[in-house]
Amino acid sequence: MTNDMKVWFLASEVAPFAKTGGLADVAGSLPNAIKKMGVDVRVALPFYRMVKEGNFPTRKALSRLEVPLGERMLQGDVLETATTEGVPVYFFDRGDLFDRPNLYGTPEGDYRDNLERFTFFSRAALLFARVVGFSFDIVHCHDWQTGLIPTYLKTIYREDPFFSHTASLFTVHNMGYQGIFPAAKLTTCGVPATELNPEGIEYWGKISLLKAGIVYADAMTTVSPRYSREIQTPEFGMGMDSILGKRSADVYGILNGADYSSWNPATDEHITNHYSLDNMNGKKKCKADLVKELGLPQRFVDRPLLGMVSRLSAQKGCDLLAQIVEDIVRLDAGLVILGAGEETYQALFLKLGKKYPENVAVRIGFDEALAHRIITGADMLLVPSQYEPCGLTQIYGLKYGTVPIVRATGGLDDTVQAFDRNSGEGTGFKFVEYEPGAFLDQIKDAVKVFEDRPGWMKLVQNGMQADFSWEKSAREYVSLYEKVKARATER
Ligand code: ADP
Repeated sequence: MTNDMKVWFLASEVAPFAKTGGLADVAGSLPNAIKKMGVDVRVALPFYRMVKEGNFPTRKALSRLEVPLGERMLQGDVLETATTEGVPVYFFDRGDLFDRPNLYGTPEGDYRDNLERFTFFSRAALLFARVVGFSFDIVHCHDWQTGLIPTYLKTIYREDPFFSHTASLFTVHNMGYQGIFPAAKLTTCGVPATELNPEGIEYWGKISLLKAGIVYADAMTTVSPRYSREIQTPEFGMGMDSILGKRSADVYGILNGADYSSWNPATDEHITNHYSLDNMNGKKKCKADLVKELGLPQRFVDRPLLGMVSRLSAQKGCDLLAQIVEDIVRLDAGLVILGAGEETYQALFLKLGKKYPENVAVRIGFDEALAHRIITGADMLLVPSQYEPCGLTQIYGLKYGTVPIVRATGGLDDTVQAFDRNSGEGTGFKFVEYEPGAFLDQIKDAVKVFEDRPGWMKLVQNGMQADFSWEKSAREYVSLYEKVKARATER
């Protein structure tokens, strides 16, 4: 489609190198899809301990890159590897900032120097491109960690000939993470004091790196059409709705795709019994293995098994699920939860697991392989989010014949179609009110359909046939790149 477009794709997590959630899945797979369309795309992320421990083959791309951070001049190295599809990936290495047990913080809270860490990464990414002469047309940034990049391009690098024709696209994967810091940190960011105003980086007397991305980027996207509309309302805008309203002509909603090279029951490297629509035996075997692995009673091989794989945060509807665990037990369904996140929810679910060991298995931690085994082995996948920008587990669930039960919000509403028993159409179950009774009603309906085998098989088939591959969305991104580039060239 296009063969002269260069894109510098910057994210704070990229699968399979470093991952805590959906951003990593997107940043790990969208560039591959974009490359297939003829774009010269290159990806960058920090060299976390997690990346280091992955032992990916790397070569040194640059030593001792000089990066200003406030009054200091720091140095960092840049390492290079490539994705399976040959997209170059650069790791920004600075041990004191990134060689830590986690990406952003511990269950008790964020690392206190996150502003310094991601300011370093953002500034370093631009400087590296200039040093090596990668004259990108578009810098595609993601979430608050890279929100300073559009800001730099519109302020300190505005007159820099190297960046004069570059444009920025800012994708927000979650409005709930706003990168808010004291205004006094502005000098550490290296952003001129003139930008500290309500039309700029200031947010109620502080600074917000998310807001900076929204205000200074040439265009902004979020990860589903419905969420792009929701965030412009007070209910979902999390205080940014009026800021977004001012830019509404430049706000786009592009649905995330799924990386079916990693998430496909016919080829999944994390499961032993592969299957597809023509032969579903493998799914049954995977379920039996999972029941055994989790120590649940043998009868759950035939009873409905509900799964949830999620960050444990208020957003994900953890409290809703906790309130109906007892009812799930009364339905004699099994429940499997894999999650990591806030300490309160980790403790709450562990307690429920101990209280109902016959029905409920809880695993706390981040475990990619177990996530695949649960999404494969469960019959139903629970996503009861308060809000959900896109959500990926329900999309994976569909592909694996694991029927999603979701709240009708954001991308969950865009990707799951409510099942209609009469017409046999639809792919899952949806509830509207954020309320435990509404959630439980859908679980009960799902269990009823589960017990009517032909109806269930139709539902499973509908989901497995739905196609959320990246192609369509990658095309939308590339046409947006072209639009934004054309505007920048006119400047
Ligand atoms: P979010 O980005 O808000 O966390 P998404 O549904 O978009 O939610 O993406 C979540 C991704 O993270 C999925 O790939 C899911 O399988 C994965 N995931 C979430 N929690 C865990 C966990 N504890 N262990 C392994 N994978 C997880």
